[in-house]
Amino acid sequence: MVGGSIFPVQKHSPSTIRPVPLEARANLRASHGNNKLELRVMTISRSENMRRIQGKDTKPEMVVRSLLRSLGYPGYRLHRSDLPGKPDVAYIGRQKAIVINGCFWHGHDCKKGSRRPKSNQDYWLTKISKNQKRDAVNQAALLNLGWDVLILWECELRNQDQLAQRLKNFLSG
Ligand SMILES: [Zn+2]
Repeated sequence: MVGGSIFPVQKHSPSTIRPVPLEARANLRASHGNNKLELRVMTISRSENMRRIQGKDTKPEMVVRSLLRSLGYPGYRLHRSDLPGKPDVAYIGRQKAIVINGCFWHGHDCKKGSRRPKSNQDYWLTKISKNQKRDAVNQAALLNLGWDVLILWECELRNQDQLAQRLKNFLSG
């Protein structure tokens, strides 16, 4: 099946990335009008999405960091690999971590998080489900280490006043 070979990208194991076999590419080119071509287009936009969402300096993170600085909470550390799940923002002394989640990839209960692409649904659902499990494990691990964790969803970043209040409450508590 062609679909299996064009969705090999795993976040944590770049070594598993395999190029689409030439034979499959020829099939894709020859298959205008059916879903193979659509899958190929999806692959490209998905990898762009992954880069944007899983990148370390994505816009939502920048919004939060900039707000933290303006609120007078500098000194945060980013993506500390010695902490479970490498939280986006961590205040080591305060033992407080802030995790910023994309609504779609992490399965938020909001409009964007509930969106389900029609194509290749098994792939998306599995991916989102894995992310949710991993998020829960990481959050529990941080709590076990005595950390406080604030989960921020992408959709919650629009209201800056509300966000600022939440950050202040979290960090001053
Ligand atoms: Zn959301």
